[in-house]
Amino acid sequence: MNPLTLEEKQQADALFETIFEHCKGCKDEDNEYRIRKAYALAYKAHDGIRRRSGEPYIIHPIEVALISAREIGLGTKAVISSLLHDVVEDTDYTLDDINAMFGPKIANIIDGLTKISGVFDGGSMQAENFRKMLLSLSDDVRVILVKLADRLHNMRTLQSMPAHKRYKIAGETLYLYAPLAHRLGLYKIKTELEDLSFKYKEPSQYAAIESQLVSSEKKRAAIINKFSLPIINSLTRQGIEFNVTGRTKSIYSIWHKMQTKDVPFEEVFDIFAIRIVFITDEKEKEKSLAWNIYSVITDHYQPNPDRLRDWVSTPKANGYEALHTTVMGPDGQWIEVQIRSQRMDEIAEKGYAAHWKYKSSKDQEGELDKWIHKIKDLLKDPNSDALEFLDEFKLNLFTSEIYVFTPTGALRRLPKYATALDFAFDIHSKVGSAAIGAKVNHKLVSLSTKLQSGDQVEILTSSTSNIKREWLEFVTTAKARTAIKNAFKEDRKKAMNDGMEKLDEALQKLGYTQNNYLLRKIFEAYEVSSKTELYCKIGRGAIDLKDLKKIINKKRRNKFIRYWQLQFGKNKNKEAGNVNKAFVLAEDLEGSNYQIAPCCNPIPGDDVIGYLTEDDEVMIHKTTCPKALKIMSSQGDKIVTAQWKAHKIMSFLSTIQIQGIDRMGIVHEITGIISNDLNVNMRALTINSSEGVFNGTIDFYIHNVEDLETMISDIKKIKGVTNVKRTENIEEISE
Ligand code: MN
Repeated sequence: MNPLTLEEKQQADALFETIFEHCKGCKDEDNEYRIRKAYALAYKAHDGIRRRSGEPYIIHPIEVALISAREIGLGTKAVISSLLHDVVEDTDYTLDDINAMFGPKIANIIDGLTKISGVFDGGSMQAENFRKMLLSLSDDVRVILVKLADRLHNMRTLQSMPAHKRYKIAGETLYLYAPLAHRLGLYKIKTELEDLSFKYKEPSQYAAIESQLVSSEKKRAAIINKFSLPIINSLTRQGIEFNVTGRTKSIYSIWHKMQTKDVPFEEVFDIFAIRIVFITDEKEKEKSLAWNIYSVITDHYQPNPDRLRDWVSTPKANGYEALHTTVMGPDGQWIEVQIRSQRMDEIAEKGYAAHWKYKSSKDQEGELDKWIHKIKDLLKDPNSDALEFLDEFKLNLFTSEIYVFTPTGALRRLPKYATALDFAFDIHSKVGSAAIGAKVNHKLVSLSTKLQSGDQVEILTSSTSNIKREWLEFVTTAKARTAIKNAFKEDRKKAMNDGMEKLDEALQKLGYTQNNYLLRKIFEAYEVSSKTELYCKIGRGAIDLKDLKKIINKKRRNKFIRYWQLQFGKNKNKEAGNVNKAFVLAEDLEGSNYQIAPCCNPIPGDDVIGYLTEDDEVMIHKTTCPKALKIMSSQGDKIVTAQWKAHKIMSFLSTIQIQGIDRMGIVHEITGIISNDLNVNMRALTINSSEGVFNGTIDFYIHNVEDLETMISDIKKIKGVTNVKRTENIEEISE
């Protein structure tokens, strides 16, 4: 305990009072009372606590509330939640206390905030935590907005954290929070988050660009003045009320451009933009005014036709509205001009909350609402695999979008790089599954054709479903992917049933019924390893049963003995209710008495359990596997204890994920360690790099856990690698 001095208390109180200057609704008598009550509680709860910098803790929630009110434009509930956001997590107060004092709505937001806190502050980022965060988005979007305010203040005060934590927090901010802020239309916050992250991650590069910006300031101001003067004169003559400002690109985006275009500072041509914000009370007139101003500008300067962006007629999905054009300036350089109304400007700066403020009841549902609904639906879909969905969702955060048209001229939005097939599934899953080809701008093309903004797309369909596995290779949207995979699950089920019936029939004709002994022979003959595979292949016609009689009459071989031992174990266990007898996992998979579960991929040395599947095979799971836990709790009688016997000869498939900061040669170093140093066999390698952060997945064969751990710790030592972990859950479709 380190009580506040009188001076510190006065400072905190004074800072708190400024909240009311930035939140109109907060001044309402009842609201003000509740906000003061929240402050009093937060003050008491955090009393005597200081942040690492020595600053009283209470300053942090006040600042977060200020950001919520001033920079995001949120109201009373968000201000109260901001003030209380760390109370349940860090102090003795509980959610019930909050509920009793402030009601269920606030308690609900605090609950959401508490659930997702620690996600990025403590351990490493996990898909499941990210999912929690998105789930809270569908619950009450304020949870994420307050979380963003919290993160912004933490970034502003990051200096007092130890270096290694700074680096990690900055990485997470750049990786997830900034794109999320962008997606919600909070441009200012997105930009500040990026700049702060960059500053802590690459201090010297940040400083270099900053000083170049300062030293080129005067020159820039001169260009802006020279450029604006004739426009200002013309607009004033027309009686248009407006403001002109020069906006410099953020340090991070300048750096990003230097990297991606591989050019020096001097050659980033759009380091600044001119912004014209016009004032009108009539929303109906905004569009014609914007184009009017555009026409004035192009009277003076020659526009670049490739760089005209009309987000007035078609706002961006995150709500952004403006008219952008790039024109040739007086000194022969391209200059971007952004034209917006005051209303559009506020939406651009504050995003979501401002968007809400201007929405009248008769307005159609905005694109942002649609997006949020889409997330809600996707999260609700019991068929969607959480992890897979998240992967794709995160990709969708980064991609920008294209606009395409249906044959009747209706506009659809799709992520960049979407194909004609994505479009088909976007229209309806029935259209997607029956698609056979497409016409883009009246020309016949294949379904894998990538669409461009402005394309008019017509989908040609057959009367029946035409889904193909290869489609997964070129669809880009989560919706299409999920629909295709689900169709395959159904298709597979049908093939299995057909196959099973056909086999039964064929055996009956020969006077047999299915039993494991016969099945074993059949497996051998057709070179399949499970009932599932066998039935599917029969069902799909890949196996005909012409030779069945010959196969059955073949003599049995020694190989089957092991299998029978397993059966014995199961029956005995069932009768005696004894599940504790250990099932020994031999190193020889050929004997095929067990299978490695694809969900958790255990390797020798892992703690494992076996589960008797309906195919009478033992499926080996890790004891920590969520699927195994579910089985253990619901079907205890099918559990077989399992142990590894020997594990030096065989290699097992395992997967690791690597995250880090992208730099030249890093992939080479990683693969070097895997292939040279430890002599493991790599099977597949995927590296995605985005905004300077890379994310890699490596599948390889390894002997045991010890080797795996050695390898992980070796990779961790590589400069730039921030996180290496073994993947616990990879779901693949297996035939
Ligand atoms: Mn906090």
